[in-house]
Amino acid sequence: MKQFHFEYHDLESFSQDLSDFKIMCESENIRAKMFQVYSEILECHTMQKVCSAIEQIFPDTLYMGCSTSGNIIDCELSSEITIVCTAFEFPSTQVRIFQYDLQRNDIDQITASILAELEKYPWVKAIETFFTIPEDSTTRFCEGLKTVRADIQIFGGVACSDDITSDKSFVFSQTGEISQKSIVLIFYGGDDFYVDSISVTGWKPLGRKFQVTKSKGSVLQELDGIPAYEVYHKYLNIKNDENFFYNTLEFPLFYEHNNTTILRTPVASNADGSIIMTSDIEIGSVVRISYGDPGTIVESIRHDSRQIADFQPDLLHIFSCAARRTFWTAKEPTYEIYPFQGLSPSCGFFSHGEFLRTNGNLNQHNVTLVIAAMREGKKRASVPAVFVEESRLSKVPLVSRLATFISVTSLELEESNQKLESANEKLKSAAIIDGLTGLYNRKEIQHRIEQSLLQIKEQKFSLIMLDIDNFKQVNDTYGHQEGDNVIIELANILHREQADETRNVSAGRWGGEEFMMLLPGMEGSASSYTANLIRKCFAETEFPFIRPQTISLGVTQAKDDDTLDSLCSRVDMALYRAKKSGKNKVVLI
Ligand code: GH3
Ligand code: MG
Ligand code: MG
Repeated sequence: MKQFHFEYHDLESFSQDLSDFKIMCESENIRAKMFQVYSEILECHTMQKVCSAIEQIFPDTLYMGCSTSGNIIDCELSSEITIVCTAFEFPSTQVRIFQYDLQRNDIDQITASILAELEKYPWVKAIETFFTIPEDSTTRFCEGLKTVRADIQIFGGVACSDDITSDKSFVFSQTGEISQKSIVLIFYGGDDFYVDSISVTGWKPLGRKFQVTKSKGSVLQELDGIPAYEVYHKYLNIKNDENFFYNTLEFPLFYEHNNTTILRTPVASNADGSIIMTSDIEIGSVVRISYGDPGTIVESIRHDSRQIADFQPDLLHIFSCAARRTFWTAKEPTYEIYPFQGLSPSCGFFSHGEFLRTNGNLNQHNVTLVIAAMREGKKRASVPAVFVEESRLSKVPLVSRLATFISVTSLELEESNQKLESANEKLKSAAIIDGLTGLYNRKEIQHRIEQSLLQIKEQKFSLIMLDIDNFKQVNDTYGHQEGDNVIIELANILHREQADETRNVSAGRWGGEEFMMLLPGMEGSASSYTANLIRKCFAETEFPFIRPQTISLGVTQAKDDDTLDSLCSRVDMALYRAKKSGKNKVVLI
């Protein structure tokens, strides 16, 4: 693959440049090619001139274009209207361009027809995507392409204009008009075409985690239950003024989604404390404020770009967030991508959002650098990658060390908080759970009976009281340990009764080998039936060293005028009668 670029200043000189290029193409036998137009200027009539020149001099040649927030050629900012021509050298390489109108088609229809096109072209290896600034989030578009063949790479950017706060942008192609609401796609592929793509942010998480507790699309309403703006105010002292966007730019929110790091930047804050983000963040996401520090970012890009160097690209397509251009300031807007300069020719632009498919999931990123590397033909025998070395970056910046310090201390705090929370949970449960059986203790089951008595008008309930028969003998004959095992087996039967969530039964240890069950919504007769099932089940339980044991059970239904005492005496009386009449029985009063 080869790349040629042109600048548009006026129609005459551009047409001349193209004509000269045509002569060169003929003499060098360059046949298959595609034009990409990047424009910082939102002027349709100028774009029409560019398109007509291409159509006139190179009829039937594929072309597309989009508005940008800055054009990149060979890792430097290029002129306001830049035209890139990519020439394909291998006859097997194929390219197609599609344009979809977002006003005339529903996004689901669009993704369905993309999938249908992919069926027709089994050679596709990569899809490059150009979106105009979307009205809603692009999540549905990304989800719609989930079933694209796993080996197809998807990357691209959202068009933009030189004013990054403006929501105006356009895309166009030889198949459609200059449109403010469209998607343009390029399919690349063929046997000799190779592609690889990466994303790098370089921003690092800082401090503690927050959970997104309320959000709607790109409006982030609450973090940890408090208005999202409060977090920026409290931790970073960022004021809600005209500099809000620029101040928060250095501290976007960072989170992991499908094993991919996503960044979202606040754009503006609302009176209710919610923040408008660059794109949507789902409820439940765990986010962290992150920080951008020049040295750390460049270091991170150099690290991740080794993959691209190994790939040995013929050329690179670069999609970098317009926010990154602002971050690096007007002085050196492309400073961070210089390491790529030595690798291969490149073109691209500053965008309003960046697309990349990782692990099968397409995501729209913000504040991110997406690099797609393309090559025709096999790799050369390994040639060591050349990187532009920057000696001044070898020292880790102070801010990076401080950020590490803050992150580690907040991580430690989080860990000890978690330990405290789980200790608290244990204490809470110890207060209501019996140690030997794991059932509720007497205090808790008594409390539950009292609560049920308070609501008896709304819901009737019954009690079952159980006691192991002749248990002293078990202890005396086989020892206390064996006795404990019998108690535990009985408790297991009661645990199973409790496990059925539809009945909401509570079981507790009333004393030594006495148990109490609370059965909400159940009448005495139905409870008797349950009691009998428990009795049979226990009588059939086998023990390793002793013969099967039995229990006696008393059952009663609570009355409107019952007190805890009157109710418990009645169920105790029922149990007493079961014992008196020969044990291994259920008696209902
Ligand atoms: P009955 O059929 O009339 O209930 O006869 P019983 O022998 O079971 O008499 P009772 O219920 O009064 O006896 C309770 C015995 O349970 C007394 C005590 O030694 C024993 N016990 C109480 N708590 C425990 C315990 O946690 N573990 C063991 N192994 N035995 C216990
Ligand atoms: Mg007993
Ligand atoms: Mg007893």
